[in-house]
Amino acid sequence: MHIKKQRLLTPGPTPLYPPALHAMMASDVHHRTQDFVKIQNQALASLKEVLGTSNDVFILVSSGSGGLDASASNFLSMGDKVIVCTAGKFGERWVEIAKAYSLNAVVLKAEYGDVVTPDRVEAALAENPDAKAVFVQASETSTGAMHDVKSMAAAVKKTDALFIVDAITGIGTMPLDIDGWGIDVCIGGSQKSFMIPPGLAFVTVSPKAWKANESASIPRFYFDLKKEKKMIEKGEGSSWTPNTSHIIALNAALDYIKQLGMPKLVENAELLAKATRAAAAALGLELFAKTSPGNSVTAIKAPAGMDSGVIVKGFKTHFGAIIANGQGSMKGQIFRMAHLGYFDFADMFAVIAALELILQANGHKVELGAGVAAVQRVYAEVAMPQTVNA
Ligand SMILES: *Cc1c(COP(=O)(O)O)cnc(C)c1O
Repeated sequence: MHIKKQRLLTPGPTPLYPPALHAMMASDVHHRTQDFVKIQNQALASLKEVLGTSNDVFILVSSGSGGLDASASNFLSMGDKVIVCTAGKFGERWVEIAKAYSLNAVVLKAEYGDVVTPDRVEAALAENPDAKAVFVQASETSTGAMHDVKSMAAAVKKTDALFIVDAITGIGTMPLDIDGWGIDVCIGGSQKSFMIPPGLAFVTVSPKAWKANESASIPRFYFDLKKEKKMIEKGEGSSWTPNTSHIIALNAALDYIKQLGMPKLVENAELLAKATRAAAAALGLELFAKTSPGNSVTAIKAPAGMDSGVIVKGFKTHFGAIIANGQGSMKGQIFRMAHLGYFDFADMFAVIAALELILQANGHKVELGAGVAAVQRVYAEVAMPQTVNA
């Protein structure tokens, strides 16, 4: 058809919250003025509120991976033993970071689509009482799997090790009780559930992590959180030039998230994920992460004999929409449909309708509407119960 609206259906960047996008235009402000420091302090306070933590929170000018980098370099020393859980491409990033900083990594690996179970973390901690930290992804975006962060936290809390969680797609898609469970360092990114463009990373730091920071000797310069803390406390904002436009946008998005309430944002993702899984089943498609499917993104196996790239291309060609292919060896095998942040049910109706058409055009037998009906049933059950009973 002739008009195709561009739609971002990837697990980062995600669709933008329009008022946040508009707010960015007011960014001709100087970062050393009290006006801007006020804006930044507001963002920090709102972040604490939506994350439900009293720990320090930092906003870094980087993509999410800068937050991961800072989380290793600020709390550890070269040669330290660490336990690294890896169940996908982002877990592999933790392994690479550990290697780059000469950490002595005990790697707990799960196959793509699977998860590292909390009992493995507990056993590894028992075998390695000298471990200084445990690294994991809350949500492994490359496979669509979700880790049991709560149980892992309970195991780590009993030890001297820090629990460092890449929650870049976990925030806003699953419950995360940073203070209650004991997540020492929790990392987020602006282009995921926060509904604004890429460019900011968020890092929370617990008192236990600050203690570790005192003796952590990995060389660091730009991402020095202690220095950042001093600047904030002095009322000077940040050591460097902050990403003013993004912080202004962030405030608009955080106002929206506060108004919704974090549990509602999480529930939104949970319901959209549930609907997507129901649609996949109705269309005879198999989930990639079967043991513990998460809510940020649903990874689905392409039908036998079909390259998932055909589906990705179909979305782009016919609907101007961008969905994610598999990464690394999963490329061509799976496709990933996101539902974190600013997604709603009307998006899902359209996405699944498009998927049905693309599958049909490429030889997969589908009953048009079967997947959409599955999504509709999830919506009706939750939001229009009378209609269901009528
Ligand atoms: C998006 C994402 C990241 C960060 O990637 P950047 O490209 O650096 O923003 C890290 N971990 C997970 C689980 C992610 O989904």
